[in-house]
Amino acid sequence: MPEIDMTRITDNLMSVYNYAFIDAMPYGFYKPNDAMYVGVKLVDKMYHCPKCKGEFTVKYRNDNDGITYFSKSRIAAQKKVYEDLGLDFPANWELMEQPFTYHIIGVCSECAKKDIMESQEDGQHIYNLCHELHMQDELMAAKAKKYMTNSLQKWLDGITESSYLMQFDLSTRESLRDLICAVIIQDTKAVEDALQEYRDTIQPIIYEAKQLLEKQTPAWKANVAHSCSLPNSMSDEEYHEYTVAFPDESSEGQDFYMEKSIEKERVSMFLNQHRLTSLEEVLMDAGFHEEWIDMVVDKGTSLTK
Ligand SMILES: [Zn+2]
Repeated sequence: MPEIDMTRITDNLMSVYNYAFIDAMPYGFYKPNDAMYVGVKLVDKMYHCPKCKGEFTVKYRNDNDGITYFSKSRIAAQKKVYEDLGLDFPANWELMEQPFTYHIIGVCSECAKKDIMESQEDGQHIYNLCHELHMQDELMAAKAKKYMTNSLQKWLDGITESSYLMQFDLSTRESLRDLICAVIIQDTKAVEDALQEYRDTIQPIIYEAKQLLEKQTPAWKANVAHSCSLPNSMSDEEYHEYTVAFPDESSEGQDFYMEKSIEKERVSMFLNQHRLTSLEEVLMDAGFHEEWIDMVVDKGTSLTK
């Protein structure tokens, strides 16, 4: 079980989604030993989609003196991928010395649209529903922040005299905070509408996924979307700072589908998580954003000029 912070519902949903579908390995802080790990001069990763023969490369950041540690089982798996692609795997001594490309075979997002995303096969369909649900969870959180910012902006836009703003206590961050919260709470129509829409959208998704899940075996394989800009751990066991490679900033958040084993229990946990239900929860969950203070201060400055 991953550690779950109970403070934000949206953070929880994200952790549980990752736990069910992305990465569930424990994190450790020790240096990998030679018996279990192999140092590799990893520079980039290359994605291959056999369906359209499409390929693209993502560069890694040059951390840890350019050396990333692979678990021996991951090296063996990577040898197999090289073989499938008809490439020569470097000799052991070359791994530390020569730039190494990590190859990944899967399905590109364009090809996934045609079959994976439309699949009616139960195991894949359950994943697709969960992925859609995950996107809706994230979208709701993003909308809440955006509409709250809009409410504040609308209020500020209506102020034309500095004297109007000066009637409020703007002397401390706390008083500014109270003012901003009071303003936002007066204008929550857009957030409420978004919440209603979110609830109407996710309800049938959750219902359908649960129906399908009931008939499902304890574990199965499905194609799971991974963002190409997320870090990769090269250890099949524990991952730690020496086994993780980070794509550099230029990598775009493109999705790539790879086969992964899925556990019914984890999916069930994701579906049964508490989601945003009330306006109060949405506002709490969105939290307070420091940039709101800047918006008020900037307005005050522009009026007194
Ligand atoms: Zn493709």
